[in-house]
Amino acid sequence: MLYINGEWRQANSGQTLDVLNPATGEIINTVASGGKEETKEAIQAAKKAFKSWKKATGEERGKYLAKAAELMKEKKGEIARTITMEMGKPLPHAEREVAGAINYVVWYAEEAKRVYGETIPASHPDKHLMLLRQPVGVAAAITPWNFPASMITRKIAPAIAAGCTVVLKPAPSTPLSAIKVFECFHEAGFPEGVANLIIGPADEIGKELTKSPDVRKLTFTGSTPVGKMLLKESADTVKKISMELGGHAPFIVFEDADMGAAIKGVLGTKFVNSGQTCISTNRIYVAESIAEEFGQRLAEQAAKLKVGNGLEDGVDVGPLINEQALEKVENHVADAVQQNGKVLCGGNRYGNGKGSFYEPTVINFAQESMKITTEETFGPVAPIYTFKDEEEVIERANHESYGLAAYCFTKDLGRGYRMMSELEYGIVGINDPAPIVAQAPFGGFKESGMGKEGGRSGILEYLEEKFVSVGIGN
Ligand code: NAP
Repeated sequence: MLYINGEWRQANSGQTLDVLNPATGEIINTVASGGKEETKEAIQAAKKAFKSWKKATGEERGKYLAKAAELMKEKKGEIARTITMEMGKPLPHAEREVAGAINYVVWYAEEAKRVYGETIPASHPDKHLMLLRQPVGVAAAITPWNFPASMITRKIAPAIAAGCTVVLKPAPSTPLSAIKVFECFHEAGFPEGVANLIIGPADEIGKELTKSPDVRKLTFTGSTPVGKMLLKESADTVKKISMELGGHAPFIVFEDADMGAAIKGVLGTKFVNSGQTCISTNRIYVAESIAEEFGQRLAEQAAKLKVGNGLEDGVDVGPLINEQALEKVENHVADAVQQNGKVLCGGNRYGNGKGSFYEPTVINFAQESMKITTEETFGPVAPIYTFKDEEEVIERANHESYGLAAYCFTKDLGRGYRMMSELEYGIVGINDPAPIVAQAPFGGFKESGMGKEGGRSGILEYLEEKFVSVGIGN
């Protein structure tokens, strides 16, 4: 179903699209598929709603969000099951995602009350200078399938808290999670037109959103090539833009690191979501003196991970999103092997051919010339590189084009601080493989994105700064 101006409805054309379970290949549901016309309607509904929504107090807007968060908590199990069925991640991981998605709504329900302005000292006694922060207007949000609930609330909660109205286009492979989140918005009583949902063909909906002068903000999470294209498309209407794009995270393990903790960190950042995470570890740099032991221990642990349908108990690694994703992983592994990479575990498709599963894979002797180094693999493949010293590893870890997340394990405090400052990444975890929280900014450097989501920075992305100078003389 589409959700426009507070109503659930079919597409004008009656068109639908099927939603598949990547663990079984079966159709699990069919939803309405709208296009240009419905997008126009949604933009107009959001534009109309903006007139009154921007005037609501932050406290009032926060109450709607708090109610939506309560409803999401009540439906946590249902939303998580939907995520698992349409994109494959194991149920406990889907539950964790929903908890994270709720955290954003709760955080911004509070933050809605704290959109402060500033006073600026004047250069003349007869002037009073102020900076006001006002909502930018209608915001278009485009989200990917890999976190089909939390990527939505990370955008919509701050937008709504700021006083913007929203048109969301989720990934068509995961529309059911989006519908579940919107059901909570609907039940929470969001006024008509404040949040709108359009499911359908990316190109058609995307063009309408980017070309419309009524859309004043575009927030996108997805791949770097699509992000670049949307930036170009939005140029004619000079929108406020934020982009959360692809990543290629280095995971650096120094010789003094707690090896057990580092291995646990790699398992968590590499194989969770089957490696389909923008902050997934993509390159593991291990100090030469400990590399052999590290590789062996990591491969032993990776080989023990249970692959399967995410609804089954004890599954650690679910399927990849589709056959195309599986082929890309196969291609990257074949390329690594051809360039003398050594497969320590995995390296094959998994299962009876029904779902798109790939074995957790560890590759030793990775090289800079391999595709796994230069492209985002987006699969459960862990390549190990070795390094001699700190200077060398900093140079190699800083990617030419990506700069989203980086991890570093060391017990040397000074080195930890040096790494923190030298790594050219928007997010750095020092002895911490999970540096993501609702109250902190999330976003990349270089071609990994622009702007931030989460924390105080996240709401500023939906606010315009207005300078006002008031003459107070007679
Ligand atoms: P994608 O292909 O770029 O798609 C993301 C979204 O953009 C989907 O809704 C997609 O719809 C839509 N889209 C594609 N072409 C479009 C167009 N011409 N106009 C408008 N919308 C368009 O990325 P993905 O494969 O879904 O997601 C994986 C990527 O997202 C990875 O690169 C990952 O690193 C990145 N990601 C980044 C973050 C972050 O916070 N930095 C978080 C999660 C994921 P269709 O599916 O219909 O094409």
